[in-house]
Amino acid sequence: MPAPLRSHHEVVIVGGGTAGISVAARLRRAGVSDVAVVEPSQRHFYQPLWTLVGGGRADAAQTVRPQARVMPKGVTWVAERVTAVDPDARTVVLGNGRTLTYDFLVMAPGLQLNPDAIPGLAETLGRDEASTNYHFDLAPRTWHNIRQTRGGTALFTMPPGPIKCAGAPQKIAYLAADWWRRQDVLHDIRVILVLPTAAFFSQPQWGEVLRGIAAGYGIEVRHNTHLVDVDGPAHRATLLDTKSGAKEEIHYAMLHAVPPQSAPDWVAASPLADPDSPFGYLQVDQYTLRNPRWPNIFALGDVANLPTSKTAAAIRRQAPIVAANLLAARRGEPPPARYDGYTSCPLTTARNRMLLAEFDYDLTPQPSFPLIDTMRPRYDMWLLKRYGLPALYWHAMLHGRA
Ligand code: FAD
Repeated sequence: MPAPLRSHHEVVIVGGGTAGISVAARLRRAGVSDVAVVEPSQRHFYQPLWTLVGGGRADAAQTVRPQARVMPKGVTWVAERVTAVDPDARTVVLGNGRTLTYDFLVMAPGLQLNPDAIPGLAETLGRDEASTNYHFDLAPRTWHNIRQTRGGTALFTMPPGPIKCAGAPQKIAYLAADWWRRQDVLHDIRVILVLPTAAFFSQPQWGEVLRGIAAGYGIEVRHNTHLVDVDGPAHRATLLDTKSGAKEEIHYAMLHAVPPQSAPDWVAASPLADPDSPFGYLQVDQYTLRNPRWPNIFALGDVANLPTSKTAAAIRRQAPIVAANLLAARRGEPPPARYDGYTSCPLTTARNRMLLAEFDYDLTPQPSFPLIDTMRPRYDMWLLKRYGLPALYWHAMLHGRA
């Protein structure tokens, strides 16, 4: 029998990535029986390990599982793409033309990579010694390129605007430089790190530590600069210094480029987009994670316009807030839980060393391990990133237990 054109669920969650599955699992554990997750992908990814895939410290296969295996029991999985949302009519439209209605909506479709925004980049990534760790298929290519490079210029770029894991564009530069040092070729390679910002990192204390790490490898850093053009076959990249307006052409031996990012186009075009976000991210109260106009709608994860870093670690703190506040709204009560902006970035500084940056909306450090100094590159923190956090993700976070 064909599926009905219109069906209703008490809670509809858009996106079955880190945020969507975490919230779905929590709602199911709390006894909500009618939860639907709309997710078109048959695969679920653990993206934080992609940096280590690109750095030759993890296999891509360890970062992916079948979506069916992570979908919480009792949740209805709608394997379709959402194309539009109408918050007044309480509907979401699916790619197959069907419509879902809901009492509560949780928006968690992540963000969109926009390689087309830089002329030449989309055609170049994955070939011509250019890659990005921001794509499952391309992260292994980064490691291939790093191993092939024995001289010349290695270019690492970060785009302007909010992106997921803002530390990742520079982490791969440190992993590569450490590898080249161990191979005794670092002195033959000019490593350039291009940052659109004046600082290394949003949190100034860890930013200073990173400045020292980059200097230790002899990395040239271009601040207030970004990639504006790539000619893959010629191995030529053009950089723009936004302060002086000067352009610089670099002939590279390898390029690691992070594409510009934004909310998915249909999200940016929806009434839920924040008019204050030039990138179309979703409007949401930064403490309750609820939409200010439509109190039956919540948003979290990369798609939310929150003044904190977009990370899986942030979602680990956001998911319980959304679940608690949605359960309260269901009972007709005001939201009891508040998100303090906690985020964390494991900053890989070498093949076996890591800093752990953890802070909140005020950029105040929020250490999970107050007795150890995570502003110093540490082996135990590297073990946490490589083995501890993936296990926490697959076995606890996606089950609504962490
Ligand atoms: P995602 O996990 O991307 O999920 C979004 C889901 O929505 C996807 O499954 C997608 O298929 C689905 N979707 C998309 N469009 C639609 C649609 N139209 N309809 C329905 N569903 C849709 N975080 C850390 O905490 N630590 C790190 O060290 C770290 N390093 C990173 C390194 C890299 C290279 C990258 C790329 C990310 C890193 N992150 C890190 C960030 C972290 O992975 C993300 O912040 C997190 O996965 C975002 O979760 P999300 O659920 O918002 O989006």
